[in-house]
Amino acid sequence: DGPCVSELPRPCRIMLLVNPQSGKGQALALYNSHVQRMLSEAGVLHTLVITERQNHARELVRETDLSQLDAVVIMSGDGLLYEVINGLLERPDWEEAVRTPLGVLPGGSGNALAASIHHYSGASLVSSEELLVSCGFLLCKGLVSRMDLVSIHLSSSPRLFSFLSLAWGFVADVDIESEKYRHIGAVRFTIGTLVRLASLRVYRGRLSYLPAGEGCARGAVKLRHNPPPPPVGPGCPSRDSPCQNTLYNSCHSNNSLSARRTESVSSRSASSSLPGPSDSLLLPLDQPLPSDWVVVQEEDFVLILAMYQSHLAEDMLVAPDATLDDGTIHLFYIRAGISRIALLRLLLAMEKGAHLATNCQHLVHTKVRALRLEPYSPKGIITVDGEVVEYGPVQAEVHRGLARLISG
Ligand code: ADP
Ligand code: MG
Repeated sequence: DGPCVSELPRPCRIMLLVNPQSGKGQALALYNSHVQRMLSEAGVLHTLVITERQNHARELVRETDLSQLDAVVIMSGDGLLYEVINGLLERPDWEEAVRTPLGVLPGGSGNALAASIHHYSGASLVSSEELLVSCGFLLCKGLVSRMDLVSIHLSSSPRLFSFLSLAWGFVADVDIESEKYRHIGAVRFTIGTLVRLASLRVYRGRLSYLPAGEGCARGAVKLRHNPPPPPVGPGCPSRDSPCQNTLYNSCHSNNSLSARRTESVSSRSASSSLPGPSDSLLLPLDQPLPSDWVVVQEEDFVLILAMYQSHLAEDMLVAPDATLDDGTIHLFYIRAGISRIALLRLLLAMEKGAHLATNCQHLVHTKVRALRLEPYSPKGIITVDGEVVEYGPVQAEVHRGLARLISG
């Protein structure tokens, strides 16, 4: 059974949000030349909305009558979809709203989700314009799949939802420093990378995560600490069960933590009654980590990058084995001490997803369900889906298949 959960009806009614300022400022021209006819011929009736400013799409989506729509589609970069998703999750009826099928047509300078769904469809790397046509066809086909979302907690901002990435260090700096070159399109990342390489620096902080279960049971976690022998409670597998250590430890740690986790959820809901799913794996940011989390020994990094889709940009296949709804945060970090040339080699290998095969000792890749990052430096840049967020401690938890995306 594939990830597809439904198909758009025919004819279908969509709201198409176009950001005229995205990328090289050509999204509207590309709509006229490539998209309009394709959609009409496929029976996709669309209301065109040209966004007027930042957060326009977010406000619209928060207030719109979704029962009149079969999908909401953006034609822009990843930034506009980020607004749409957060708008949906700010609604009192978020549970229903977040199941609205979403679609992406690449029109920005950062089109990572478009590149990812093109990649999932099995097609090979193509140019920007071909990517638009490919995504147009996927939209016309109208197959809807589940997509993971990640909730992001910051120290004093409201909780956010993310569909793509959380970045700190090299990648976040390049993304934001290169915004001023947006008019040249995706090349901005190459230029930004070269500029940043020249002034390569170290980012200090503490990184911790909850490993994704592998092997015998979904959700089973390996403990880093050796726990005292746990009581075998109801629901715990017996000590004789196969793969006993993993399951047994997991069950034990869940029992010992359940009280604190309940407290975490209730303290959050006491402080706010914001919509959205609750985060069962996270404790408040100012509290110590649960004991089944792994704390990374190194504290000097060149970059930390959490990805939940395959591509970070059209030509950056960072997580080749990621899928739309694998319920996994693909966590990458590069330890300090890497030479400029080795880092450049890694970034170049990323175009085809070959960086993991380079055996670079400074690159670490692991799969996690949740993570926490505590930067030590007082100033810096953290990005979520390529957008700047409040700088400081941050934590994240994946919600498997929470949203719906029109993909291949
Ligand atoms: P790009 O990949 O080119 O950065 P994005 O989709 O990420 O494209 O959009 C960049 C930003 O532009 C987003 O933060 C979005 O909110 C904002 N935006 C949307 N519409 C407009 C507009 N009409 N004028 C200026 N900014 C806008
Ligand atoms: Mg952007």
